[in-house]
Amino acid sequence: MSQPNTLPTVKLLIGGELVESTTREWRDIVNPATQEILARVPFATEAEMNAAVASAKEAFKTWRKTPIGVRSRIFLKYQQLIREHMKELAAILTAEQGKTLPDAEGDVFRGLEVVEHAAGIGNLQLGELANNVATGVDTYTLLQPLGVCAGITPFNFPAMIPLWMFPMAIATGNTFVLKPSEQDPMVTMRLAELAMEAGVPPGVLNVIHGGADAVNMICDHPDIKAVSFVGSTRVGTHVYNRASQAGKRVQCMMGAKNHGIILPDAHKEQTLNNLVGAAFGAAGQRCMALSVLILVGEAQSWLPDLVAKAKTLKVNAGVEDATDLGPVVSCSALERIHSLIERGVAEGAELALDGRKPQVAGYEKGNFIAPTIFSGVTAEMSIYREEIFGPVLCVMQVDSLDEAIALINANPNGNGTALFTRSGAAARHFQEEIDVGQVGINVPIPVPVPMFSFTGSRGSKLGDLGPYGKQVVQFYTQTKTVIQRWFDENEVGGPVNTTINLK
Ligand code: NAD
Repeated sequence: MSQPNTLPTVKLLIGGELVESTTREWRDIVNPATQEILARVPFATEAEMNAAVASAKEAFKTWRKTPIGVRSRIFLKYQQLIREHMKELAAILTAEQGKTLPDAEGDVFRGLEVVEHAAGIGNLQLGELANNVATGVDTYTLLQPLGVCAGITPFNFPAMIPLWMFPMAIATGNTFVLKPSEQDPMVTMRLAELAMEAGVPPGVLNVIHGGADAVNMICDHPDIKAVSFVGSTRVGTHVYNRASQAGKRVQCMMGAKNHGIILPDAHKEQTLNNLVGAAFGAAGQRCMALSVLILVGEAQSWLPDLVAKAKTLKVNAGVEDATDLGPVVSCSALERIHSLIERGVAEGAELALDGRKPQVAGYEKGNFIAPTIFSGVTAEMSIYREEIFGPVLCVMQVDSLDEAIALINANPNGNGTALFTRSGAAARHFQEEIDVGQVGINVPIPVPVPMFSFTGSRGSKLGDLGPYGKQVVQFYTQTKTVIQRWFDENEVGGPVNTTINLK
């Protein structure tokens, strides 16, 4: 932490105003390819955090009654503004996070799809009606907003994941307090500014910055009704317990160890291309990255081809053309990845491809690591048990599909998985038996589009309902059931009814 100086500062968004924090606690935002300090982000004071929640609470009084069409048109305008600013948003994202420019555009685009979905809120937030449930009686449901909701986001998708959260929360009539990752909040802030430009009224979206204190405030504050968290299992479990204890509705999407299975009948060239992209793209910093590969039977002989394919990937700064892998987000992330690789070697895994310390001309200070592949990995090794969150692929060998399925189902995480095969019967068996939230059949990163919900099994998710899709409408609304009868003035009143039955 250091004191603010002449560097640009990231602002808070409170009550529709971009506010300079009065805090004494600041953190540098560093370009991971160059170590240039881009800006400083404040750790908001308690008074600032409370002001953000108070402004959201005040704005809720009118926003909750704003007509659907008005809400919908704001998101129509917002998606247009995001499209118009795509290049600018991607450039900010690459500078602070490191991923390549095309991948940064993909990050924004996957969020943009949720904004487009939010524009269709008129068809999503519909209740149900049953006519004549008793004589002259109808029953219907209203999906009403909860109040102030909050989101806590990770560093690896600083555009997509905030856009998973606030558009659908706001479209359903809630107001929102967002706490982005303190490592790369600049693109998130630009998206918040564009939301204001699109017509989100003052106080409906607020942004605070910080670390553990801001997260704990969100968990504890009595005026926050629901919390959406995406990040590591360690922090997510803490958020789930603390916010649930405080009586809030909570969804936590957390860590992963995603396995890909190759059966010997898979299309070799296509499969290897897909796998290498899914394991090493975004420098392995995707919650849906394939970080474990299980070669079944004769597919075990594919390892040299996999290594050869991984060697062709180009490591460079994300702004350079034809880059496959940019740097990892921070020096400390790089150190952690190196130390896990050392543990892998010490524990007996074979380093089939060592990507440590690649030479990147012009970016000698960057946090680079090239594709790294371990073979002969076992379930007991640290490199298998821990989420490495870097371009490190663990290869395991088994004799049958059922053995591979058992291995995956025994892993504590259940975020994503993929099977590569030409056999429909094997694919169907896999789909039925596997206990993982997102399942790909010859699709390496099976992230659902916004009409479906992102999900997760076992240790990868806490809470019943996922972000975006149909489930998130349930998450951000309270169902109210109305049972209604109107008396006909001309009808003679019946006897006093002491039973609970309506007839
Ligand atoms: P992280 O858990 O370190 O940080 C997430 C958020 O929690 C940030 O806003 C951070 O400021 C806050 N935080 C950090 N330490 C905290 C603490 N001690 N107390 C309270 N709050 C704290 O995660 P990250 O490193 O930013 O992101 C990578 C992780 O996110 C990986 O584990 C990845 O698998 C996971 N992830 C999961 C999904 C999913 O949908 N399942 C999606 C993206 C990322």
